Amino acid sequence: MPGLMTFDDLKAHVADGSIDTVLACFVDMQGRLMGKRFHAVNFVETSFNETHCCNYLLATDIEMATPDGFASTSWQSGYGDYVMKPDLGTIRPVPWLEGTALVLCDVLDHHDHLPVPHSPRAILKKQIARLEALGFDAKMATELEFFLFEKSLDDIRKSGFTDLTPISGYNEDYNIFQTTKEENVMRPIRNHLFAAGIPIENSKGEAEAGQEELNIRYSPALDCADYHSIAKHAIKEIAWQQGCSATFLPKWHKDRVGSSSHVHQSLWKDGEAAFFDKSAKHGMSALMAHYMAGLIKYAPDYTYFLAPYINSYKRFAKGTFAPTKTVWSVDNRTAGFRLCGENTKGVRVECRIGGSDLNPYLAQAVMLAAGIKGIEDKLDLPPATTGDVYEDAKAADIPQTLRAATLTLRSSAFLRDALGDDVVDHYTRAAEWEQEEFDRTVTDWEIARGFERA
Ligand code: ADP
Repeated sequence: MPGLMTFDDLKAHVADGSIDTVLACFVDMQGRLMGKRFHAVNFVETSFNETHCCNYLLATDIEMATPDGFASTSWQSGYGDYVMKPDLGTIRPVPWLEGTALVLCDVLDHHDHLPVPHSPRAILKKQIARLEALGFDAKMATELEFFLFEKSLDDIRKSGFTDLTPISGYNEDYNIFQTTKEENVMRPIRNHLFAAGIPIENSKGEAEAGQEELNIRYSPALDCADYHSIAKHAIKEIAWQQGCSATFLPKWHKDRVGSSSHVHQSLWKDGEAAFFDKSAKHGMSALMAHYMAGLIKYAPDYTYFLAPYINSYKRFAKGTFAPTKTVWSVDNRTAGFRLCGENTKGVRVECRIGGSDLNPYLAQAVMLAAGIKGIEDKLDLPPATTGDVYEDAKAADIPQTLRAATLTLRSSAFLRDALGDDVVDHYTRAAEWEQEEFDRTVTDWEIARGFERA
């Protein structure tokens, strides 16, 4: 791939003055890039080794509040430091910013330098290691859907989030003319990310006014999550540079389709597609059937990681391509799990449940864990469903609210076993807090509905 730099490349760019800034970033619970902007000389001389951040950054909500109830840190324990350890295999230029490079960091305990268990990158690495112990590696692709709006984020905020005009006036699914009108934003997104070492496949108009999708070539699971986080960040920054805005809020309007992040998954062994068996039905190997059975059986347990906010659940609406049923189907977009690439080496499962607000490290980790459990327990795959799954009364539902998903998360013996009690308790607390914050809010809807007529 073009783009990725070795540490020696970076040092050479710093020496010749073409890079003066290094962004040292880690990924927080919300999937955001957080960190520091280093003078490049300081980075290559000392900070490449390690830097530090406050440990509340992995125990906060999206507003940077400091909720109580996290075992890892608190006011009581004084909110100390974590180590940010740059992963020097992830150094890349940031071509949409002048003279800038970026490196992703792992988050380590300040005292023993062990990975912080609830850090999203550590959570994914643990499941990848479990899979490797079974002799497999995972390749994944996470699609990024989002909306573009005419106004800048600052103008929209100043309007109280009321001045929301999508960048296009009609459903632009696969529409070349409309997406030509958006090329001032989308072309730099594709080209800058490609130049940053992210294997962009394409962008396309999506099935709503102002909605776009970016596709990145499937890659080893950790790379896929790194690509997703950097791409999401780039999309927001490049839209901002162009004076408009991008949002990954899954459902911005009750009458509009929401944004998803579908996750394509396949397992490989020694470079061969382990999901493919040309003599089997659909070309689906027994391994793939067990993996999918695990994904389906445990979907209610891990739904929180595919839909972590109140708004995430507004997306799950009948007839919108956002599935709610834990069933699989062959190339059918109404099921939670779709078998793609039937009878080819590209045979894979696409999970269609996740929203555009998912954290790709957490989403991939919990799905890998479910697939591993399916393989270990040799779970039987139920028969495929056909037709409009929304109307299939027998098909099981995923939790329909954050409250319900929090309950299944908290009581999931499978996730406690796979991720650890500390990790499940940590994210359960985050989910509870999100609900508590919403529960004490008086919404515009309530005021308009009841002010005069109640
Ligand atoms: P769609 O028509 O649903 O957009 P695509 O053929 O464009 O399907 O593929 C969607 C995503 O699936 C792409 O990001 C692609 O890289 C990924 N993909 C293709 N083959 C595999 C595979 N074997 N494992 C995982 N992901 C894959």
